[in-house]
Amino acid sequence: MVYRISMVSRDDLGQLFELPFPVLLHRAASVHHAHFDPTQVQVSTLLSVKTGGCPEDCAYCPQAQRYDTGVSAQKLMDVEAVLVRARAARDAGASRFCMGAAWRSPKDRDIPKVAAMIAGVKALGLETCATLGMLDAGQAGALKDAGLDYYNHNLDTSPDYYDSIIHTRNYQDRLDTLGHVRDAGLKTCCGGIVGMGETRAQRIGLLHALANLPAQPESVPINRLVQVAGTPLHGSTELDPFEFVRMIAVARIVMPRSMLRLSAGRETMSDELQALCFLAGANSIFHGEKLLTTGNPDTAQDEALFARLGLVPMTR
Ligand code: SF4
Repeated sequence: MVYRISMVSRDDLGQLFELPFPVLLHRAASVHHAHFDPTQVQVSTLLSVKTGGCPEDCAYCPQAQRYDTGVSAQKLMDVEAVLVRARAARDAGASRFCMGAAWRSPKDRDIPKVAAMIAGVKALGLETCATLGMLDAGQAGALKDAGLDYYNHNLDTSPDYYDSIIHTRNYQDRLDTLGHVRDAGLKTCCGGIVGMGETRAQRIGLLHALANLPAQPESVPINRLVQVAGTPLHGSTELDPFEFVRMIAVARIVMPRSMLRLSAGRETMSDELQALCFLAGANSIFHGEKLLTTGNPDTAQDEALFARLGLVPMTR
């Protein structure tokens, strides 16, 4: 299903950010309750099927080969090894399995192997998601034919801050890939990262870009920067946790039907901060010990937090 709501202006977004915190959370929670069961949280697992050695220069990323982060380049995993991990994720309660590869874009010769992974994961009864870099129209179609449900491709940040973060491809490249993904009939997973030194106006710019895409993404990951030594953004000023919650709340209000995902950075969030995010409308998490190459809260910790908050994993 394609969701489209009326254009959201930067002024509208700015006014939402300015609301007193309790008023903003009430507004966001009301929107959340109107569109979702607020006790359910969708749980995804992310596996890096091809780690490191990426030629891009994303300033936050430990997988860029140009930064000395201790991440070594690996080859694309074998299909059976991926399926072993997918089975384990399903048995641990995941309903969606995401496969990530550190590529600028996949080579056409990689597509059959990735397609076999997708088909195998789908056959396990899991929703499938992939994040492989830029796609052309033919590649998007091939992944759809293999059984892919979602394609992740983030806008990362505001158009006017993008040049401070990435130089090896531009904003339009990202929009083009998202267009191919939509045209192929894939669901879109598209969000960004905050805490990269951007201003509030630039966080507003990111939400403005996401909410006004030709179709709002079905899934919106909001990442909090994980600062990795060796990357240019290591040493950035930490974002105020309440500003992060505001980001979630405003995203929920302007993208009412999207799954809003707490992604990277959750490991360093307290239980109380995560609870505030759920209250503000977050309803999806990544589960499992690793998020590509950075840490993630362990499964038992997540289960304990869900139990304390009366939350349950969303079923398909
Ligand atoms: S974020 Fe993706 S494209 Fe950018 S350097 Fe990392 S792996 Fe490469």
